[in-house]
Amino acid sequence: MTVYVKGVVFEGVEFEDPNCWHLDEYVKRGGYAALKKIINDKITQDEVIAEMKTSGLRGRGGAGFPTGLKWSFMPRSFPGQKYLVCNTDEGEPGTFKDLDIQVYNPHALIEGMIIGAYAMGISVGYNYIHGEIFEAYERFEIALEQARAAGFLGDNILGSDFSFQLHAHHGYGAYICGEETALLESLEGKKGQPRFKPPFPASYGLYGKPTTINNTETFASVPYIIREGGQKFLELGKPNNGGTKLFSVSGHVNRPGNYEIPLGTPFSELLEMCGGMRDGKKLKAVIPGGSSAPVLPADIMMQCTMDYDSIAKAGSMLGSGAVIVMDETVSMVSALERLSYFYHEESCGQCTPCREGTGWLYRVVHRIAHGEGRMEDLDLLSRVGDNIAGRTICALGDAAVFPVRGMLKHFRHEFEDLINQSQSSKPL
Ligand code: SF4
Repeated sequence: MTVYVKGVVFEGVEFEDPNCWHLDEYVKRGGYAALKKIINDKITQDEVIAEMKTSGLRGRGGAGFPTGLKWSFMPRSFPGQKYLVCNTDEGEPGTFKDLDIQVYNPHALIEGMIIGAYAMGISVGYNYIHGEIFEAYERFEIALEQARAAGFLGDNILGSDFSFQLHAHHGYGAYICGEETALLESLEGKKGQPRFKPPFPASYGLYGKPTTINNTETFASVPYIIREGGQKFLELGKPNNGGTKLFSVSGHVNRPGNYEIPLGTPFSELLEMCGGMRDGKKLKAVIPGGSSAPVLPADIMMQCTMDYDSIAKAGSMLGSGAVIVMDETVSMVSALERLSYFYHEESCGQCTPCREGTGWLYRVVHRIAHGEGRMEDLDLLSRVGDNIAGRTICALGDAAVFPVRGMLKHFRHEFEDLINQSQSSKPL
């Protein structure tokens, strides 16, 4: 997937260069300077965490939790093993940014993880990579070897007394393993099913030990923050929404791809960068933050800026930054049918409201889409949704309900029209 706009994570990357991901090229564009600065200038763990807090970097996996604050939760004086985990189990429909980080700039992720490990006093880390991306996994393994050979990773990094062992782990492609506790279960070799929280991974994580988990893009933003300063990163974006963010734009635009732009950029500008709407069609709606984010109609979306606060105020979520653009030809009933099928298929089945409820949602939307719907089905969808949301172990239940609520809120008339049409065409 081509990346059209560069920023913090892809700073200086020449995407056309087949060697851009190698260590030499990364070092040429300033790579590992942040790690060297920490080691050579003897920057303390507290100072690194303070810089992260200043940056305002919010978790790029979807939750948007402040990274510096998360790092400060790790008990520094814990006597046993602690772990650092990168969540590269990118499986949300519409999201493909972490794949590009692995493919074009894996050393930014490695350097970010090393700095995180240093700041939290962690000696072992894992990068959990989605099971369906093979080339990226192999490339990451090679990048790890390069970093070890250069003394950036392993024992006594750059001659210091800090050691960090980092390993890649290939998942098996289950969407639910992107949920952090399911990921930990899978990493331990068990069935990937979410755990009850609390306890949270910061106190009871991998193998029951304190664990910090961050997303790929989050880690890959760290070297810039340490090298250039948290304040500079913060100022790239807007208050409470520091830095740049990768947006995976798909759907009916002329140039789908990953765009790294400052948080706070108007959606209309992003749409322009993507070459506008395909075939000159009109924009109908946008899912702004991955398939679980409620859909927003064109008129609302065109008023939004691409940041956590603006999208939340409009009634949706920035999530992982997957922007799904739909033109006037899209049937919202069909779109919801596809989304509902996904969540039904990916439910791990552990809790009843999600296991059964996602099936109900899919089957009801399916029958509306296929001319078998009844007007009562619309209230039924709302009731089933209410019996799932907030009543499950993990957020997949909520994720299945949000698209239904968004569609019924903004495009209820399409569902009603289809039901009316199919009822009037039935023989008496
Ligand atoms: Fe599994 Fe769904 Fe329950 Fe999450 S909400 S634990 S995916 S059944």
